[in-house]
Amino acid sequence: MNFDRILFGTAGVPNSTPRKNNPIEGVKQIRALDLDCMQLEFAHGVRMKEEVSSSLRRASFELGVPLTSHGPYYINLNAREQDKIDSSVERIIQTAKISDLCGAESMTFHAAFYMKDSPYDVFDLVEKSLNVIEERLGRLDIEIELRPELTGKTSQFGSLQELISLTKSVNSCSPCMDFSHLYARTGKYNSYEEFTGVLTDLKNELGRICLDNMHIHISGISSNSKGDLKHLNLESSSFNWKELIRALKDFDCKGYIICNSPNLEVDAKMLKDYYLSL
Ligand SMILES: [Zn+2]
Repeated sequence: MNFDRILFGTAGVPNSTPRKNNPIEGVKQIRALDLDCMQLEFAHGVRMKEEVSSSLRRASFELGVPLTSHGPYYINLNAREQDKIDSSVERIIQTAKISDLCGAESMTFHAAFYMKDSPYDVFDLVEKSLNVIEERLGRLDIEIELRPELTGKTSQFGSLQELISLTKSVNSCSPCMDFSHLYARTGKYNSYEEFTGVLTDLKNELGRICLDNMHIHISGISSNSKGDLKHLNLESSSFNWKELIRALKDFDCKGYIICNSPNLEVDAKMLKDYYLSL
């Protein structure tokens, strides 16, 4: 997709939507709230009737509210048992199929846990699975960006460097830049200089195209030495969102910002208003 600017939306149907279990109502509510996009959350399973996905695709197109998606939590491409790896691959493919039916062009997921293995071995395994997934999606004629998420816990695969390396080695792969997770995972990356440092690294390693087509997550967050504990509303968190938005604006970044604070649309709107005020 070609973006003029950053689009702002919620992780799932906005809380204020009259019928919260209906994604079509969610898209209408995004429009009513003057937000721009919405992420479909398949966190607890990939289920959607085909007539719902086609109506959703139509609503998204007609109202000009593009969609992204998030795969199930129980994915682990480094599981101990081969059948669990296989079902993780199937879940990613299933998410891609439904996302494609809904017209979403970018999907994110948590790729794996280290399970105390060497990060290098885990990387090889994740890379191998993503190549298999890419090939199978190609045969199904599904074109979608696979965006492994920058994860919040030190036990989870998905550091900034791992995502940069994956993007270089798997064609349809790009990072889902969860800046709140990056902060929770490292205890760093919470200042303007650090944010622009990350954006400079992305640009140098992956090219300008990476900043022209971003998929970002932002929320308030609490953490301990092992990483993230809980998502919070931005105002209750020490996460320096204003400096992040300023850095993204100064680098002329484009793409999606999905807000996954508990108050969803309230923080999404606050992020958007601040961005537009700069
Ligand atoms: Zn996530």
